[in-house]
Amino acid sequence: MTNPNCADCGKYARKKDEFYMLKDELWQAHGVGKGLLCIPCMERRLGRPLQPDDLQDVPANTLGNPYTRKILGLPPLPPKKPRDL
Ligand SMILES: [Zn+2]
Repeated sequence: MTNPNCADCGKYARKKDEFYMLKDELWQAHGVGKGLLCIPCMERRLGRPLQPDDLQDVPANTLGNPYTRKILGLPPLPPKKPRDL
């Protein structure tokens, strides 16, 4: 079991709507191996905001995380409504 906290700031980084996956070569160059980094810390390491080419085509980026959806140019997820009963 890997540490679920950001290796740089210590914030919990495994929340579904903040999880993301970078391309392997980028993670190998700037990431923390089997550890986790929150997006602000990853962007600080890169010295720039994330770009569409940085992200893997996986559900974590395309479905779970509103921020990576925005980077990828996907429309915002519909707000969760309480179900009508
Ligand atoms: Zn962090």
